[in-house]
Formats: sequence, structure tokens, C-alpha cells
Amino acid sequence: MKKILVVDDSKTILTLIKTELKKYDDIEAYFAESFKETMRLLRENGGEFHAALLDLNLPDAPNGEVVKLANSHGIPAVVLSATVNKELKESILKRDIIDFVLKDDPSSIHFALKAIQRTLKNYDTTILVVDDSLVYRATITGTLKRLHINVLEAKDGLEALDLINKHPEISLVITDYEMPNMDGHELTFKIRETYKKDQLSIIAISSLEKQETITKFLRFGANDFIHKPFTDNEIITRINANLELLDLFSQIKDMANKDFLTGLYNRRYFFDAGKPIFSKNRRKKSPMAVAMIDIDKFKNINDTYGHDIGDIAIKEVKNILEETLRSSDLVSRFGGEEFCILLEDITEDDTIKVFEKIRLLFEENDIVTPKVNIKYTVSIGICYGIAKNLDEMIKISDEALYYSKEHGRNQVAIQKPSVQE
Ligand code: GH3
Ligand code: MG
Ligand code: MG
Ligand code: MG
Repeated sequence: MKKILVVDDSKTILTLIKTELKKYDDIEAYFAESFKETMRLLRENGGEFHAALLDLNLPDAPNGEVVKLANSHGIPAVVLSATVNKELKESILKRDIIDFVLKDDPSSIHFALKAIQRTLKNYDTTILVVDDSLVYRATITGTLKRLHINVLEAKDGLEALDLINKHPEISLVITDYEMPNMDGHELTFKIRETYKKDQLSIIAISSLEKQETITKFLRFGANDFIHKPFTDNEIITRINANLELLDLFSQIKDMANKDFLTGLYNRRYFFDAGKPIFSKNRRKKSPMAVAMIDIDKFKNINDTYGHDIGDIAIKEVKNILEETLRSSDLVSRFGGEEFCILLEDITEDDTIKVFEKIRLLFEENDIVTPKVNIKYTVSIGICYGIAKNLDEMIKISDEALYYSKEHGRNQVAIQKPSVQE
């Protein structure tokens, strides 16, 4: 959850902002209608806000004083203002603001909040700046830090590669061309041996006169380039555009790999990700578990309470599995009310313990819905061992599940592949 401060003296605007904010479930907003109230909120919250959406003209602070106030607390600010006074706008832009959105039509609120959202994401964004010039590195780093982006620095390509290996959280690399040990071209080439454009963005920096340097950068896989010398605004715009693209890539990947209702991986992804895991463990002769979980008499829930409540019941599976399984376990929604999980590095005893615990959690769980509280149980079938392939593991877990259903439901059955190698 990220905290934002919203300041505007117009009740209408505040209402519109509140409505738009309903789309963001990870933002906690605090509202003020005057400079005085802003000061109070800052005091009460120890100045701790991740971002601020500010109006320049307040009755008790008509000249953008609230921006200065937010700045003094190190809070990145987006200005949403009706003012077109050029001088004021210029002087505000020089200060620490992320964006200036003109309050001219209803969509401006949408854009302002998009800018806020971008800013909030910065807190979880890491950029690597690679340049042998301390001055340039400091300039870029300074700009990024003001945006609350996490920054790592390297003075040449070799150092950069080392940092990229150690920090998988790096999402963007800004690199210079001429550097000792390893230049920007080679660095770009090497990064692209491992990371594709949709995983890690590269922005190259080069002097204007060297057109062929840029062309080569792009050929080696850079996403974008910036000419030296550059302004703060230019670099921020390029970075934002590239980060947004990365976000889009990840949204598209999620759409393809995840189930819309629960957000769990879908059947297709289970096979894509599961097969290499299976092969690796089979090579190591290390037994795995595939578990199939199916909700008992689920049709009754739909028939009795309706499909909406049925959907809530299905979503509950995700919560229980997330609270009991390890993040390395591959959890998927296989179909309707059926879930399939692949676990590696686990003993047979622990497998039984984990799924017995899951079964019990469902049995004891009361699901609170807007209409009624509902309960259901699950049946679980497990294949433990090393079958000849992943499909076979699934088939065996399905047979075990069938056994659980046949023998009274609400139970765990385990079966082993007949030929153990
Ligand atoms: P059993 O104990 O034998 O598993 O009985 P069951 O009723 O759970 O099994 P059955 O396969 O007969 O019914 C599954 C039901 O799940 C039928 C289907 O309408 C429902 N279902 C599948 N997907 C969804 C969904 O996304 N939302 C809701 N609400 N229901 C779903
Ligand atoms: Mg250089
Ligand atoms: Mg069922
Ligand atoms: Mg079923």
C-alpha cells in the first residue's frame, strides 16, 4: 500500500479524484482543501507520503506554495492546475515536480493519476547507470533519485554485467558508449545474450555527432537512445516511456499465462513452466509431487447461491494455497474448480503433511461473502515420485483424486508411479 496526498480546494475536483482513485486498490489517499490542512496532514503523518497530487491555487496559498511544502518533505509531486500563468508554471517546473497536468477537461484527472501511479512504481524500480564519467553518472543518478527510483552505478561494462547478475531487480540499464574495459556496444550485446527486450530495457547515451554509434547500439538490442547533452525532462520522458513499455509487456504476459478470475497461472503456463522443472528433477533422480485439488460438490454452491458466490468460493482457493505453499511451488488453476500444483525438493512425508493441512484449512474455513457465509471441502489426489513425464504425473494424481472422491471426498490420496527409476 502506498500513501498519497491530494490537495485541491474544489470539492468537485476532489470528488472526481476520489472516484478515479477507486480504480487503484494499492493507493491510500489523504485529502486536504487548503494549505493549512495540508500542513496538518503532513504533521500527522510525519511527512511520510510516497507522492502528492497538488493544486497550485489554494485560497490560503495562491502561488504554488504547497509545491514548495511537499518538496521540503521530499515528496514527489504532480501538479494538477487550472492556471496558465506562464511565469508561475515555469518556476514550478524548475522545482521538484514529476508532471504538470492542466485541469482543462475531465480526462486530466485520469492523466494526473497515471503520473502518480508511475511515480509510485518508481519506489519498486531499479535502474543501472553505466558511465565512466563521474559527472554524467552523478547527473543521471541525481535525477533518478529525485524520482525515488532505486539506482545502481557502474563505471564500465564489466562492472555493469556483474551488477546485473547480482541484481535481478534491475529493469533498465542506461549506458554510455566509450568506457574502459568494456564499452556500451559490447555491454548491450552481452546483456541481450541473456535478457530479451521485454525483460530488461537498455537506453544508450551518445553524443549527437556519432550517428553510427547509435545505429550499432540499436542493432545490438538497445531499446532507445538519448543524445548528449540532454535535459532532465528528456531523460525522464525516455525512462518513463521505456518503463511503461516493460509494464505493458508484463501485463500481456500475465494475460497469456494467468487465469483471469484468480490471478493464478493457467493450465498452459503450468505445462510451459512445469516441464523444465520436471526434467531437471528427473535428471537428478529427485522425486516430485503433483497434486490435484478439486472442490467437493461445487455445483451445489452455484445452484444454491448463484455463480457470483461460486466465483468468490473459487478465489478463496488461491488465498489458502498462497498461505500454505512455498513461493517456489508451481500453482495453477487447471479448469473450473480444479487446481494443479507441482512441488520439487520435498519428501513424501512433507507432501502428505502439507496437503493434509490444506484439506483441513478448507474444512475449517468460513468464507464470508456479501450475502452468506459458505463452507466447502476439497478432495486431493497426489502423485509422488518420478513418472516418465509430467503428463503421466498428472494422470496419476487424477487417479488418486478419483479415489478420494469415490471414498467419501474431503480427503487426501497419494499414489506412486508404477515404474520408479
Ligand atoms: P465433485 O465433488 O464430484 O467434484 O462435484 P462438483 O459439483 O464439484 O463437480 P462437477 O464437475 O459436477 O461441477 C463443477 C462445477 O463447477 C460445474 C461448473 O458450473 C462450475 N464451475 C466451473 N468453473 C466455474 C467458475 O469459474 N465459476 C463458477 N461459479 N462455477 C464454475
Ligand atoms: Mg565515456
Ligand atoms: Mg468438484
Ligand atoms: Mg471438477
